[in-house]
Amino acid sequence: MGPAPMVMRLAYLQRFSLIDYPGALCATLFTRGCTFRCPWCHNPELAAPVAPETVEDDFVPGAVLDFLETRRGKLDALTITGGEPTIQGEGLLSFARAVKDMGFLLKIDTNGSHPDMLRRLLDERLVDYIAMDVKGPLDRYESLAGVAVDPATIRRSIEIIMNEAPDYEFRTTVARSLLSPDALEETSRTVEGAGRYFLQKMGMEKTLDPSFMGGQDYEPEEIRHILARVRRFVPAAETRGW
Ligand code: SF4
Repeated sequence: MGPAPMVMRLAYLQRFSLIDYPGALCATLFTRGCTFRCPWCHNPELAAPVAPETVEDDFVPGAVLDFLETRRGKLDALTITGGEPTIQGEGLLSFARAVKDMGFLLKIDTNGSHPDMLRRLLDERLVDYIAMDVKGPLDRYESLAGVAVDPATIRRSIEIIMNEAPDYEFRTTVARSLLSPDALEETSRTVEGAGRYFLQKMGMEKTLDPSFMGGQDYEPEEIRHILARVRRFVPAAETRGW
């Protein structure tokens, strides 16, 4: 049996980013489709499922590898984001193998809904950095993710990442109407002791549910107090965007 075909549903490639991979120059690949339906989704056009035939013919994993070939020595890394990259299954694994064979660092952004895929990526040493969104307290996931979620799945992803990822971060999107200061403290307990954890200001440009747009931010003074509470459980916690 030959290698698995490299089939992935891709949206677009950002050829250069200074911010997506901490400390490295990277390109960022956006995949299509997501397991969640977060009302404040910042990439709603990528979260929606798309039939494979609507993907442009020339935008296939091989085209991304061809691009990376021209960037050897110029870029350090590739970040794969979404949507939710881990739903790309065997296609993601074979693509990740090819990227690693070329010598690039690889980062995966995930919502934590596929711990088994994270384990496979880590077991094969295909991923160097995992960034996981932690939506909120585990008992509120269903409303925050917009779909039924087994909290044990999220907990398992967190454990795998904390114990096995070469490098990682957790991050929580913060908006006043989504998560109260108490809820944010509770969220931080799920990643207690994490090496990197960010309270991230919500990007207000566009969301799945437009009612989430505007007037959602905690004031700088408020977020400082929240951060102090969060640091009781995650001393390394920081804010992003304030
Ligand atoms: S996990 Fe939520 S925010 Fe992220 S792409 Fe999916 S629906 Fe959007």
